[in-house]
Amino acid sequence: MLFHELNRSACKTYLLAADPGGAAVLIDPVKDHLDRYIAVLAYFNCRLEMVIDTHTHADHRTASWDLHELLGAPVVMHRRAPAPHIDVHVEDGQELSVDALRLRILYTPGHTPDGISIYVQDRVFTGDTLLIHGTGRADFAGGDAGAQFDSITQKLFALPDETLVFPAHDYRGHSLSTIGEEKRSNPRVAGHTREAYIELMNNLGLPLPEKIQEAMQANLSAIEDGSVQFPPLSKLSEVRQLSPAAVHNRLLHGSAPLLLDVREPDEFVGELGHIRGSRLVPLKELAAHAAELAEHKHSDIVAICRSGVRSTTAAAMLAGLGFDHVANLKGGMLDWNDAGLPVVREP
Ligand code: FE
Repeated sequence: MLFHELNRSACKTYLLAADPGGAAVLIDPVKDHLDRYIAVLAYFNCRLEMVIDTHTHADHRTASWDLHELLGAPVVMHRRAPAPHIDVHVEDGQELSVDALRLRILYTPGHTPDGISIYVQDRVFTGDTLLIHGTGRADFAGGDAGAQFDSITQKLFALPDETLVFPAHDYRGHSLSTIGEEKRSNPRVAGHTREAYIELMNNLGLPLPEKIQEAMQANLSAIEDGSVQFPPLSKLSEVRQLSPAAVHNRLLHGSAPLLLDVREPDEFVGELGHIRGSRLVPLKELAAHAAELAEHKHSDIVAICRSGVRSTTAAAMLAGLGFDHVANLKGGMLDWNDAGLPVVREP
C-alpha cells in the first residue's frame, strides 16, 4: 500500500493507493497545499480516484472542490454534509473501492454531525472524532459530545486493538497510535463515563479556531471564490430554528411563510426534492437578489437547504440586510424527508 501524510503540519492529509501507478484517494486535502498534492500524485503516477473529507472543516479551506475541478475526482462525504456539489454521499457501513483497497465508512458524528471514519486494512482515519491521546472538540458547528463518546467507544473501539489510528489533526507531535492504546490511555475517554465526557467537553473553554470565519462557511457552502460576504459567526446562533413538523403545521394551518430554498438548482429537483411553493434563490446569489424579496422584509420567511446549515447562513445574511422575521428549517430537507413530509421534484 502506498501511504503518505502530505502536510507535515497540525492538519493532516493522507494519500492512499494500493500501488504506485494506480488509483489513489486523498483524505482531508487542504486548499493551501493543492499544488503539492497534484505534484505528489504525478510523482507516483497515480490517478486521483476520489477525494474524501471526513467532515466539514472549520479551521482550513478544503481542497476537495479544486481537486474535483482540476482532476475530475468525485468528492465523497457523509449524507449529513451540508455542502452542495458532493458527488457521492456515504453512510455507515458502506464500502468504497480504490483498486484493491476496500474503504469501509464508519459514521462517527460528534465533532460535527457529518463526521465519518474510514477503515482500510490495518488502519483507520478518524477525522477529528478521535485524535491521538485526545478528541476533537464538540462545542460548535453542531458538535455533540455524547454522540462523539458513542462514536468513539462503540464504533472505533470496536475495531481490532492493533488498528493504526490516523486523525485529521495532531497538535502535539504525535504520529503513531493504535485503537488498543487509545482504549487504554486516551486521557479524555479511558475510564470516563459518557456523562463525565460530556461534562469535560462542554467546559473546555477553548477559543474558536483562528480561521473559522474564512473557512467554515466557505466549506459548508462550497463557495470558493470570495463572491459572498458571509455573516459573522455570532449571528448564526441568533437564527430561530423551526422543526420540520412546526413548518409543516404552519403551512397547513397558519399564514404561509415565504419558503426560501437556498440550494443549487440540481438539488432543488434532486433526490430530496423541495417543499411545494418554495422559491429557489441559491445562497451564492442571495445578496444580489435580496431586493426582489423586499415585500417579505417584515413578514415570515423560512430558509431551507439540504441539512439546515447553509440556510442558517442565508437567514443570518438576510437578517443583516434588514429582514426581521427569518427562521430556518432545522435539519433541512434531510430531516423533512426523514419525517416523511411531502416533497415535489419538478421545477
Ligand atoms: Fe475538524
